[in-house]
Amino acid sequence: MKSVEDHLTGILERIEPLAPLELQLLDAHGSLLVDEVASTGDLPPFDNSSMDGYAVRLADVADASERYPVVLDVVDDIAAGNTADTAIGSGTCARIMTGAPIPEGTEAIVPVEWTDAGMPTVRITKSPSKGQYIRLRGSDVTAGQTVLAAGAAVGSAQVGLLAAIGRDRIRVRPKPRVVILSTGSELTQPGRPIGPGRIRDSNSYMLTAAAREAGAIAYRVGNVPDDPKILIDTIEDQLIRADVVVTTGGVSAGAYDVVKEVLSELGTVEFGKVAMQPGMPQGFGVIGPDETPIFTLPGNPVSAFVSFEVFVRPALLRMQGAEVTERPVVRATCVSALTSPDGKRQFLRAWYTPPVAGVGEGVVEPVGGTGSHLLGSLARANALISLPAEVTEVAEGGDVDVMLLS
Ligand code: AMP
Ligand code: MG
Repeated sequence: MKSVEDHLTGILERIEPLAPLELQLLDAHGSLLVDEVASTGDLPPFDNSSMDGYAVRLADVADASERYPVVLDVVDDIAAGNTADTAIGSGTCARIMTGAPIPEGTEAIVPVEWTDAGMPTVRITKSPSKGQYIRLRGSDVTAGQTVLAAGAAVGSAQVGLLAAIGRDRIRVRPKPRVVILSTGSELTQPGRPIGPGRIRDSNSYMLTAAAREAGAIAYRVGNVPDDPKILIDTIEDQLIRADVVVTTGGVSAGAYDVVKEVLSELGTVEFGKVAMQPGMPQGFGVIGPDETPIFTLPGNPVSAFVSFEVFVRPALLRMQGAEVTERPVVRATCVSALTSPDGKRQFLRAWYTPPVAGVGEGVVEPVGGTGSHLLGSLARANALISLPAEVTEVAEGGDVDVMLLS
């Protein structure tokens, strides 16, 4: 049997980052930058006021107090978006709004709250310090400065910054398009009446959501019956919009395991056992004229989920150009004793509580049993305990590796 590590390495060796694409800013949201980004201009682009108030010279207002207000002539009124075309001379000031360019001669802004808000003269009752409430040109970002590194994630703040420096398009790795297809003649879609012996197709929903969480654009095809012709036709139809195909079910040794049956014949998809629990039967390869990667995951929901986490998610992150493709793994104290099969890496659904104030180790507690059909307990987990193949027992209070899912 192949180890989890060997299977994953084999997959990642055959997955390439997607070719960069220049996208509109909002379409690039959620992707990774290909190139570093430098600003072509200063931010702010000009000296401006950070308050609604009056632009003044310091000497004119140095003695202003509640008791002895200073009265100045207001010679200009500058709104955001205006240009300041009057310089302020001795004994004069200009009314100014937040974000408006400061007129020549300004040494500080007096907030409107320190005045009677007057026009065409204003009474000022408090004196500002030099430069107070003036946002200087380039005090945030200077022209030529690198503002985002290559490989940086384009989140909402980065989108804002890119817009502020005037970029409306940016080169990123596109999000991989993932087609998710479940197989099984026993499956019924949620929302439909369910007949005897049938179960609902939870996998296609779960993995579509998981693919989205991994940054992909996911297309949920739903279920196809265990029929070789329908299966291969459906996969071929879907290839047009797929950078990756993920199937579930039909890869064990059962009589109607059509995924294995159909795809084995192509010779480009390899089926085998990986030394793990859950998720032992795995298939991976390429399909179609573009050699589209295809993952064939086992049908049991927990097996499908764990297989996605361990093999598919890293592949999707690699396609997006991520350096780190694995979930964070931390050491934690396990509150209960565990047993694990010899020779298989075991993944146990668990609840992880981080250490108080980040000091020392967190605590982890298994939730539910080990059955790979137990979706209820999967939904109560925020982590997977990962026990190496050679570990067969963990004592109560022992240390374990924990893969954090969120
Ligand atoms: P299989 O790998 O096709 O033999 O399926 C293994 C188990 O997982 C069976 O009990 C199936 O009914 C169940 N199963 C397969 N596909 C799904 C699915 N899409 N949603 C929920 N359970 C499934
Ligand atoms: Mg099946």
